[in-house]
Amino acid sequence: MSKEKSITLHWIPAQTGIQGNETADSYAKKATTRPNIEKIPKKSFKQLKNAISNVQIQIWQERWASSTTKNGRHTEKLIPAVSIHMKKFSHFIVQFLSGHGRFPAYFVRFGRSLNIKCPCGAVGDTLHYVVNCPFTEKYAKKLIYDKDNLSTILHREENLGLLHSIYQEVNNLVPQV
Ligand SMILES: [Zn+2]
Repeated sequence: MSKEKSITLHWIPAQTGIQGNETADSYAKKATTRPNIEKIPKKSFKQLKNAISNVQIQIWQERWASSTTKNGRHTEKLIPAVSIHMKKFSHFIVQFLSGHGRFPAYFVRFGRSLNIKCPCGAVGDTLHYVVNCPFTEKYAKKLIYDKDNLSTILHREENLGLLHSIYQEVNNLVPQV
């Protein structure tokens, strides 16, 4: 059996004539003339989180401003203007109040379910769970706010814990879709 192997040599042109390569090459050369490697300023985890959160708030602000849906109007009642101070609310509160919690109305809106009803029979949207659902009543009745101005619900620190409990209760109540 022959052990011969054929080797072919190819000459590959240096990075000449190809514009992208030329550019890369010139930058590479420039870099070798610098005394130190430049440091890329690192952002802390907190800085990144804040930056992301700011963008999110901006997106919500735009979405809510253009929202004409029933759910959007509910949201306006709860949070009349999205602002930077929302950062102090945790993710679940924002999700819940903005109508993106795991409740029937949300699943219907996004075509994941046909049943808009809460197991109690009413339309299962954010307002329902905050205002008049028997399943969340034990927490909802402890909420202190001006009934004519729902956004005042966010003015009290104690309410945030209750809203969290309501959110969890709804999660347990609504089947996974
Ligand atoms: Zn209900």
